[in-house]
Amino acid sequence: MKSTSIEIIEILKNAGHQAFWAGGCVRDMLIGIKPKDFDIVTSAKPDEIEALLDHTIPIGKEYGVILSINNGHHFEIATFRSDSGYSDGRRPDAIEFTNAEEDAKRRDFTINAIFYDPLTEEIFDYVGGQKDMQDKLIRFIGEPEKRILEDHLRILRAVRFKNAYGMQYHPDTYQAIKKYVHLVEKVSPERIRDELNKMITGANPAQAFEELFEIGALEILMPELCKLKGLAQPLMYHQEGDVWDHSLRALSALTDEESDPNPLPATPPSIELKWATLMHDIGKFETFGADAERIRYDNHASVGANTAKNILQRLKFPKKSIERIVWLIEHHMMIVQLLEMPEGRRRHWFLNPGFEELLEVYRADSMGIVPLNLDLYHQLKKLYHHEIAELKLMPKQIITGEEVMEISGLKPGEKVGEILEQIREKQLSGEVKTPEDAKEFLKNIL
Ligand code: ATP
Ligand code: MG
Repeated sequence: MKSTSIEIIEILKNAGHQAFWAGGCVRDMLIGIKPKDFDIVTSAKPDEIEALLDHTIPIGKEYGVILSINNGHHFEIATFRSDSGYSDGRRPDAIEFTNAEEDAKRRDFTINAIFYDPLTEEIFDYVGGQKDMQDKLIRFIGEPEKRILEDHLRILRAVRFKNAYGMQYHPDTYQAIKKYVHLVEKVSPERIRDELNKMITGANPAQAFEELFEIGALEILMPELCKLKGLAQPLMYHQEGDVWDHSLRALSALTDEESDPNPLPATPPSIELKWATLMHDIGKFETFGADAERIRYDNHASVGANTAKNILQRLKFPKKSIERIVWLIEHHMMIVQLLEMPEGRRRHWFLNPGFEELLEVYRADSMGIVPLNLDLYHQLKKLYHHEIAELKLMPKQIITGEEVMEISGLKPGEKVGEILEQIREKQLSGEVKTPEDAKEFLKNIL
């Protein structure tokens, strides 16, 4: 991918144009992490780019952005431009093709505006980005207020970059994002969603959410989640603080190896697992109650599942993601009952395609608690791995609904489904092995 983007730059330069790597890839390269994609900026105009390169798509020609497809990799090539006016707080009303310096100045933060020529290994820094990189400063290019008024999403981008890269805010940048935080309300749900997703999957997500709260952005974006701040927990089980503290600790535990005395699961956590972990106790605010014995939150899992669903729908998450997150939240308390369940029911849960992720919510939840106790997690994980291969080999259905109806005389309906479920559990526990066993069992319960 890297070499192809260098080839593109070579072609543009050989035709007499300026061409650089720009934006995130230069920032990441200078920080020493592997860039996700290599964006190119050039003095060549869109028509010239199209004439020089094969396989191009004019994805944003009116903004001077051409996509080049090379060996299955996509490269964005943008003509130097300046943006004027953002009346919708998102896309520039008009653009003007300009030079490298003007293009650097239209970008958001100094660390995002460094250009690099991979052929000569020269850096072109018109905004003091390298210096800020050294001091680890997130700083708006130009007048912070103006930059926020142009595009309000930049408030959230500041929080993301600061935390994902372990940096600090320049004081003027910080004061401005606090002062104008109310403007995030005007950003489209889709852009907020994408930004929050990058925040939650990046490094230090818990700190990022803490800061979203601190500056008042979270109250606008997810007021339901803010309710966990200051929400009491029963002290004999939770010494880590309030429900908010617990939730953030759990979120950190998904990726933070330092705090983890046990090896992390091999696969990186999915975005759904991250959201479910952050919001697993979101129902505790509405269900808070204290009886003579202790603080309780009866039904908080199902109440919370509903609250989370509202948030995710509001933020236009894809339907499939919502279903997954909501399911994980709804069932996160089931894990603690697994060992007391009849074997067949427990194995039924093991076979649920979401089980492994549900167990990871439980692990993170446990990691979020002081004092730490992962005994049940390890016990269940061991049992699961011990049994799962064999369980997966079992026939899915030992008796059909038609057969059940024929023997029982029942009409199609819920009852038939319940019986099939019952037989399935007996099968999973090994009490019913053959279709004959199943029929025998059926006659007995009728
Ligand atoms: P990442 O890809 O990790 O989100 P990035 O910095 O590459 O980070 P992109 O959204 O890919 O972010 O944008 C590429 C570059 O375009 C940025 O580095 C920045 O220079 C500029 N840019 C992106 N979004 C904005 C914005 N809202 N306002 C100003 N400049 C922006
Ligand atoms: Mg990028």
